[in-house]
Amino acid sequence: WGLVVAIQANYYRVKLDKNSDLLNDESGQILLCTRRARLRKTGQQVMVGDRVQVEAVDWAGGRGAIAAVGPRRSVLDRPPVANADQILLVFALAEPDLDPQQLGRFLVKAESTGVPVYLCLNKQDLVSTATRRYWQEQLDAWGYPATMISLQEDETVQTLLPRLQGRTTIISGPSGVGKSSLINWLIPQASLRTGAVSGKLGRGRHTTRHVELFELPGGGFLADTPGFNQPDLALTPLVLGQCFPEIRSRLAEGVCQFNDCLHQDAPGCAVDPHWSRYDFYLTLLKEALEYQEGQQQQR
Ligand code: GDP
Ligand code: ZN
Repeated sequence: WGLVVAIQANYYRVKLDKNSDLLNDESGQILLCTRRARLRKTGQQVMVGDRVQVEAVDWAGGRGAIAAVGPRRSVLDRPPVANADQILLVFALAEPDLDPQQLGRFLVKAESTGVPVYLCLNKQDLVSTATRRYWQEQLDAWGYPATMISLQEDETVQTLLPRLQGRTTIISGPSGVGKSSLINWLIPQASLRTGAVSGKLGRGRHTTRHVELFELPGGGFLADTPGFNQPDLALTPLVLGQCFPEIRSRLAEGVCQFNDCLHQDAPGCAVDPHWSRYDFYLTLLKEALEYQEGQQQQR
């Protein structure tokens, strides 16, 4: 068995497990694989992040064939990755200024995937202690304790390592916040490889659906998300409510009178409207109601 780390045209790059009985001295660890005819016939797709069984290996050519795909723990759409363990959402405290609405949208989008979100605020070197404390308190209240780092202070970046080891992490966040710098810090050889891809496809990394898992020196894998600054939410009102920790935690303690409650200060609602992101929630709720109406009209 092995892990699909990248897809190029109809080829899958598979990193064999360290204990794979296929491994031999000539093999190297990466094989370029095709899908066996049986998988193609059943329409079984293979995604980056999939655990796959490899057969029919041509060691000299470094080729193999994928015979089976293991069950998936999670599936992300953008980037298309299976078995992600967490989304590391990166924002900057300054340059660009932290925009709470934009951060809120990224958080909701990440929550809607069902994959756990972990928030990191970069460029702490550019702001005062008071500003850091302000955001720390805000984000604690939202239900997202954030790790503050600076790529210019190595010891702060090191605090992320235990969270990343042994897991598959998808890095997300707007442009300019330091995602590439962070990836290069974590995996010095990643820059060469992403650079090579960009060269061939012309900024390909961000304009195509190309996605690649990079192995961390301490174990675990990282993938980057194609750059976008305003995630399109496209959520229904009931799903939206599930994407707010403030609502989830109140619903864990009590139930609303109506099970399709939209938590807008309605009678019998278990969600008390006095929370800092309540107005933000109402804004997204309006969008979600419009989205739902659009969906219903299409049917
Ligand atoms: P990306 O668009 O999210 O991939 O961001 P980049 O990694 O390209 O970084 C954008 C800019 O921010 C670059 O000029 C980096 O050198 C700078 N930068 C990244 N991290 C830090 C940081 O912790 N502090 C400061 N002052 N600048 C940073
Ligand atoms: Zn309610």
